Amino acid sequence: MRKVLIAGNWKMHKTNEEAEALAKEILRGLAETKGVEVALCPPFTALERVKKVIEGSEIALGAQNVFWEEEGAFTGEISPKMLIAIGCKYVIIGHSERRKYFKESDEQVNRKLSKAIKMGLIPILCVGETLEERKANKTWSVVERQLTSALNGFQGEGEIVVAYEPVWAIGTGIPATGEDALEVILKIRERLSELLNESFASSTRILYGGSVTPDNIMEFLKFKEIDGALVGGASVKSESFIGIVKKAALRGET
Ligand code: PEP
Repeated sequence: MRKVLIAGNWKMHKTNEEAEALAKEILRGLAETKGVEVALCPPFTALERVKKVIEGSEIALGAQNVFWEEEGAFTGEISPKMLIAIGCKYVIIGHSERRKYFKESDEQVNRKLSKAIKMGLIPILCVGETLEERKANKTWSVVERQLTSALNGFQGEGEIVVAYEPVWAIGTGIPATGEDALEVILKIRERLSELLNESFASSTRILYGGSVTPDNIMEFLKFKEIDGALVGGASVKSESFIGIVKKAALRGET
């Protein structure tokens, strides 16, 4: 069974104080909600504060990026060891904003993912095509390249989560349709089966991400093959994030 995962990517939002307040609101709002795994991914600076709020609850902590070395002269970077020490379970890797603004290559994504897994973190690997690539009918070739390259050398020695995030749907208010997301997600699962094996593929959670709100979450979760969502904008407001998680929790009853 794959438990639905709703992960909030807070991006570069929230000071320590604001992050603590948001985490408290989310914790309170979800106190009675069961059946969904929730992960909060605040900025590095707020990880410890958020961890203190969610400690003892079932909400997990995630980071938004990681470097591939354990320690050393890498100014400005954060290692998997540091994330583990602070209590992270997840780490987002290969987000399209990092690929775009920081020129993260497929090879760097692969190095980050390999090291994160080796150190015991669960990567949330983001893949997805730009609008130009979609218009040129390259959606699958791009996603397949990103996925295959990220998993180069990986032999199933740890858990991963994949997030299909069409770049044109991120932060635009224009989500993909559930059917479009499903089509790519089915192919991702098939590719995971080829790269690893059927049991790895069928136990791996594949999320959708891109302008998810409480109003459209079920458009994706109505499909059993879509195992949750990576949420950006709607995750930094307690009301909308709680709304998404509560709707997701109903899936088990539909
Ligand atoms: C994201 O940043 O991963 C994301 C999906 O953002 P948004 O929900 O704002 O589109």
